[in-house]
Amino acid sequence: MEMLDRETIAQRVQGVLSVIRSAAEKAGRHPGRIRLVAATKTVTVDRIREGIGAGLSILGENRVQEALAKVAVLAHEPVQWHFIGHLQRRKVRSVVGLFDLIHSVDSLELAEEIDRRSGEAGRHQDVLLEVNIAGESTKAGFRPDDLIRLVSRMSTLAYIRIKGLMAIPPPTAEAESARTYFIRLRELAATIAAQKIPGVTMDELSMGMSNDYEVAVQEGATLVRVGSAIFGARHA
Ligand SMILES: *Cc1c(COP(=O)(O)O)cnc(C)c1O
Repeated sequence: MEMLDRETIAQRVQGVLSVIRSAAEKAGRHPGRIRLVAATKTVTVDRIREGIGAGLSILGENRVQEALAKVAVLAHEPVQWHFIGHLQRRKVRSVVGLFDLIHSVDSLELAEEIDRRSGEAGRHQDVLLEVNIAGESTKAGFRPDDLIRLVSRMSTLAYIRIKGLMAIPPPTAEAESARTYFIRLRELAATIAAQKIPGVTMDELSMGMSNDYEVAVQEGATLVRVGSAIFGARHA
């Protein structure tokens, strides 16, 4: 059973990477422009190690406590850590310097806190701005029109570097239903890029999960966040 599981993770990693490659090629994109972020919430370190052995190089965590524990155990693995979950302001201090990229900056106040704590630590933090792309009342993220207004203000924060946008479209069974939201995110990034705000680049689009990453790659994703398609269904 254990052997079978291990084989399955390795095969799934290779499967996801090959879907990304062929979706990129079909869309006329360079496959090297798309990076796979393995969403590892609730996944044990043994299973994560299997994934690293199979070629994973970026791990995305959702919860600060869980991430701190895993980073400690996997400190010597050749991987980048990204934060992809909702980040509470009071936890920012404990993650300074830990993540190569925070995908989920969802408010001006959070951006300011990351800036302040990074400055205290003498570091710069790369971030993406999370957009509530479908205008869902229960979801975190900037509303698109608020974002256009706030991005220049956030660009003046000296210790954060804004690299692009992230979104989580409403869950659906059909991957195709997410396409319109992926297009919307890409167009929003283009609108912001056209403002040519000093210090702001819109090179990264973090969009697409297990059910719809192929569509996301077709529509311009540079980072796809894939969990269950690699590690299996989550039980926790
Ligand atoms: C869990 C999670 C993912 C991955 O979800 P899957 O459907 O398992 O691929 C992607 N992004 C975020 C923010 C997540 O929390």
